[in-house]
Amino acid sequence: MKCHYHPEREAQYTCAECGKPICEECAHTDGVKALCKECYQTLGVKDVNKDYNKFWAFVFSLLPGAAHMYLGLMQRGFILMVIFLGLISLMNLFFIGPLPAFAFVILWFYSFFDAHHIIKKVKNNEIVLDKPFFRLDIQFKSLHAAYGLLIVGSLSLLNVIFKDYVPWHVIYKIRTMLFPLLLIGLGAFILFRIKRAERNQVK
Ligand SMILES: [Zn+2]
Ligand SMILES: [Zn+2]
Repeated sequence: MKCHYHPEREAQYTCAECGKPICEECAHTDGVKALCKECYQTLGVKDVNKDYNKFWAFVFSLLPGAAHMYLGLMQRGFILMVIFLGLISLMNLFFIGPLPAFAFVILWFYSFFDAHHIIKKVKNNEIVLDKPFFRLDIQFKSLHAAYGLLIVGSLSLLNVIFKDYVPWHVIYKIRTMLFPLLLIGLGAFILFRIKRAERNQVK
């Protein structure tokens, strides 16, 4: 097979991420795996914190995302932390018990072991990838953060205003309904995006 970037050269490696055949010159390799230029550019962490402190790395690994950020994996760390804090606020805001609590525990363990897996890679001088947790094909822009803030802010404000006039059990009912509605909304949104992407591909 020939190198994806140099059609005249024989490929020596296969990119561990996208599977492109690549030649010696195009490969970023650590002896364990090889990455093509593009994947290394987008996912490879260039400023890995190799002088990490073992004690702090362990302490940070107890808070989802913190150890990732400490080691230089900003994207993955940020997403883990946002989901973690999001689950905490969901539990506080909507009084929903088991489901987010369960997700909370899973996320905590996932993040903990993931952090220690990455620490091991850093120790062994392997290439570390800053993979975002998931790809929803949603381009995250400041706009989305702005909408998020507006929605959370409005809900909190409504909560303060209505607290004195609406009976407690009604507020409780509304709040517990918000979370399932949110999930349904999110599911519908993702489905809509996927369907639209499929339609665009056919064209
Ligand atoms: Zn690649
Ligand atoms: Zn090449």
